[in-house]
Amino acid sequence: MTLDPDRIAYRPYWWDIDEPLRQDNHDPLPKASDVVIVGGGYTGMAAALVFARAGKSVIVIEKSTPGYGASTRNGGINSASIRPSHGELEQSWGRQFADDLYREASAARIDLAEFCETEGIDAMFKLSGWFKGAMSAKHYDYLAKEADLLQSRLGIPCHMVSQADQHGEIVSDRFYGGMVEDDVGGFHASKFFAGFLRLITEAGVKVYEKTAVDDIKDHATSGKLVVTDKGSIHADIVVVATNGYTGGSEHRFSRFLRQRTVPVRSSIIVTENLGRERVKALMPALRMYGNTAKLTTYFRPTPDGQRILLGARGAEHNPTLKTVHFLRNRLISILPQLADVQIDYCWTGYVAFNRQLIPRIFSHNGVHYSAAYAGSGTVWARWCGKKLAEQVLGQTNAPSVLTAAAPPALPFYNGNPWFLPMVYSWYGLQDRLNEWRHG
Ligand SMILES: Cc1cc2nc3c(=O)[nH]c(=O)nc-3n(C[C@H](O)[C@H](O)[C@H](O)COP(=O)(O)OP(=O)(O)OC[C@H]3O[C@@H](n4cnc5c(N)ncnc54)[C@H](O)[C@@H]3O)c2cc1C
Repeated sequence: MTLDPDRIAYRPYWWDIDEPLRQDNHDPLPKASDVVIVGGGYTGMAAALVFARAGKSVIVIEKSTPGYGASTRNGGINSASIRPSHGELEQSWGRQFADDLYREASAARIDLAEFCETEGIDAMFKLSGWFKGAMSAKHYDYLAKEADLLQSRLGIPCHMVSQADQHGEIVSDRFYGGMVEDDVGGFHASKFFAGFLRLITEAGVKVYEKTAVDDIKDHATSGKLVVTDKGSIHADIVVVATNGYTGGSEHRFSRFLRQRTVPVRSSIIVTENLGRERVKALMPALRMYGNTAKLTTYFRPTPDGQRILLGARGAEHNPTLKTVHFLRNRLISILPQLADVQIDYCWTGYVAFNRQLIPRIFSHNGVHYSAAYAGSGTVWARWCGKKLAEQVLGQTNAPSVLTAAAPPALPFYNGNPWFLPMVYSWYGLQDRLNEWRHG
């Protein structure tokens, strides 16, 4: 069926909500604040909330509008995925670290659900579980080993679904069975953000939107001077929470983070309204879904159960009909039953990776950072922002295995990921070889 280009809205499906996504703040920028946070996404909001509730004066400086970055563009899958498998982590970092990191991911997922519950955030969160489809028989065996380890050693609830039983999860023949992680959920990205914004507003945090931080300098007496395009602010504590939107050399302060994080594009489509029955007939378990491909695809029913959302890495900065076709082909390769379906939304955003492929909380030259959630920041960004603030405040009950020295800079790299097309080609080749050899 031909796509109707006129019905496609090139903006996030999540933005069509009644709750405000902006703060009603017309005050001039103050001259000083205990805490300045650069970047108004989940990381910045989470840190701001902890600082404000500890009695600090807090301002958030946001270059665009609050949540404009990845925090209202994501797929809303709350997996706290860790890019390296437990086995790979154990090889590089040792068994204790691997265990601790996987345990912390589980704790962060539980904490997110509790946070929505106790703070009264109606983010349509549902503990749906997450089906990860194996892209070959070999991948299925690998997942089975991983599931056994996560379950028996770490107590993380998960189980395998054979290829024969897979239609109980998703009516697709694209996978060789898969693994279900039961403690993963999904939410509405913007409703979660709007709830967060309400909380920080109630806690007294002021958000200054359309204001860009250009530099962070040592102040003549103490603390830091945060230089913006609307004036400078003296702060005791500065947090950089810009992640995949750290930008280029126009922001002097960002050089340190830019050399350590790679922004990677991810694009999403949302189908026309299919109705709950049709969605459930295709995805009987109504879970969050992904696969084991190197160039992974993630998909899910929308929180109202009426549409299907699918995303993948790559594509253009500004999505076009080409992006829509690319993602729709992915959708049809998994669910050929959707060949007759129109697409209503398409958008793009940036996620961030570091060399270690592990989210990191760190400090450098008196400035605090949290970044590089490797495409799994709906849980990690909030968790890390919160942990960062608790640690800066000296709340020693808040250790995290993610806190470490700054990740190493990438060689010959200053923020422009010129090598990504080659990485995508290499990963694509590996995916094809895997299916050809082991499928
Ligand atoms: C398409 C897409 C799909 C995704 N899907 C999922 C998913 O399903 N599950 C999951 O767990 N994660 C997903 N993610 C990742 C997740 O959304 C992010 O990891 C998370 O939102 C990062 O939050 P953040 O606050 O650190 O950064 P962001 O939300 O990106 O916020 C950074 C902010 O910093 C601001 N900023 C930058 N420079 C400056 C400056 N100089 N001055 C002031 N402000 C500045 C930007 O404008 C931006 O608003 C996805 C991301 C994308 C883009």
